[in-house]
Amino acid sequence: MKKRLAIIGNGMAASRLLDELLRRNAGASFEISVFGEESRGAYNRILLGRVLSGGEPDEIALKPNDWYAQRGVVFHAGVRVAKVDPVARRLTTSAGELHPYDVCVFATGSSPLVPRVGGLKSDDGSPRDGVHVFRTIDDCVAIRDRARPGSSAVVVGGGLLGLEAAKALCDLGLHVTVLHLEPVLMNAQLDKNGGDLLRRAIEKMGIFVRTGTSAEEVLGNGHVEAVKLRGGDVVPADLVVFACGIVPRVEVAKASGVPVNRAILVNDLLATQVPGVYAVGECAEHAGKVYGLVQPIWEQCAVLADVLTGANPRARYLGSKVYARLKVAGVEVASFGVTDAEFPSDEVVQVFEDRRGVYRKLVVRDGKLAGAMLVGCADAAPALVQMFDRDEPLPPNRLDVLATGNAPTTATEREVCNCNHVTESAVVGAIRDGCDTLPALCDATRAGTGCGSCRGQLISLLATHVTLASV
Ligand SMILES: Cc1cc2nc3c(=O)[nH]c(=O)nc-3n(C[C@H](O)[C@H](O)[C@H](O)COP(=O)(O)OP(=O)(O)OC[C@H]3O[C@@H](n4cnc5c(N)ncnc54)[C@H](O)[C@@H]3O)c2cc1C
Repeated sequence: MKKRLAIIGNGMAASRLLDELLRRNAGASFEISVFGEESRGAYNRILLGRVLSGGEPDEIALKPNDWYAQRGVVFHAGVRVAKVDPVARRLTTSAGELHPYDVCVFATGSSPLVPRVGGLKSDDGSPRDGVHVFRTIDDCVAIRDRARPGSSAVVVGGGLLGLEAAKALCDLGLHVTVLHLEPVLMNAQLDKNGGDLLRRAIEKMGIFVRTGTSAEEVLGNGHVEAVKLRGGDVVPADLVVFACGIVPRVEVAKASGVPVNRAILVNDLLATQVPGVYAVGECAEHAGKVYGLVQPIWEQCAVLADVLTGANPRARYLGSKVYARLKVAGVEVASFGVTDAEFPSDEVVQVFEDRRGVYRKLVVRDGKLAGAMLVGCADAAPALVQMFDRDEPLPPNRLDVLATGNAPTTATEREVCNCNHVTESAVVGAIRDGCDTLPALCDATRAGTGCGSCRGQLISLLATHVTLASV
């Protein structure tokens, strides 16, 4: 008899877990149900900026609503799970429906962090009109409905998400001001040099940046009219978008007696302490780490699928090395690992090209990469990420890798897509097998289906090899 597998949440982790399960023929041993509070099929949350700047939600769909039934998966669209009873092995939805399960996976992701700011609610207690977060398609549609060319927006948060939101709003014709609490933009990924260059590039796009300050109060009569800053300045605004970070969604796990620290605690099998209950994605905490990027989440999903299906009972998740890339057209930023020397023996190699607006820096520890940041030109990013990921020794002349990443590497194959670890030879192989368009190539190899920053390279590989194949 088939076991009942219930997945709570239908975001990027759930979507990837389904793919990994079906690849391992899980349909033969499981009846799979997915409970998604959002009523849409899964979509690529990473690409929300496209929807914010005017694209159609379908452009970023990962799984249309009919995908599930076609593969024998039951999708409870728009259904929130309120509680899990791990003893009775039964979950309850917020509408009070009961669903028995044998195995349950939390994939509940995160909520946007909204700092304590006055005036977020109107006098009657309802959320103030014009205050938004940037996490879902519905958020983007709501922001767009309010964004009129010539109106003004304040984006609170000058990290990856805040800058993406600011650029999208600027492209819609709004007057945009970004507020960032720290003196340096993207301070989690960049040092002062990098942050200063980034600021220059962002301001050149027409976005105003105010660092070292934040919103103290949202002002307005019913709807937003301005934001009062720490220090007293007032910035007029028709729209406020909070992009200040994320908080793992652990409320259901907590209410169900599943142990939680910052997020749901899991071991190397992605299992919680509660038998039959697992967690993946941004809601999971492994070895003290909670990841907020997809590449580690996808690594978790592959392991969990191996564990659940028994395809590889010895599969273990041992943590991931992460890297971040800003997806704002016109300014390239990539960063991973440490941003500065931490020990006296750490070696720092940096090249600052002020006129070109390019800054590249490596932090080297024991002859290997401990971190890197690239601002203004990130051509070397895929190769550097690969070296970092594989703990490869650097060549004696560090500048060989700093500029292009084209240094001799011990890896036999160069990665094109770091999110999915897809090598150049796999891409070229797929082109030779007949994938002669970008969608076909992405479908066949998974390259380009994460943050999408390798799509340019995929297009140039297509240009080279499709032509060669047809000669
Ligand atoms: C604008 C933006 C840009 C980003 N850019 C990048 C990037 O460039 N690179 C990168 O690697 N990552 C990026 N990320 C982060 C990436 O999107 C997340 O790491 C990823 O989506 C996490 O997947 P998840 O499934 O854990 O959570 P989510 O994708 O948030 O999915 C969780 C789902 O569970 C649902 N849910 C929660 N609780 C319940 C419940 N009780 N019952 C039913 N459903 C529930 C939620 O509604 C949600 O749909 C970005 C995120 C955003 C918002």
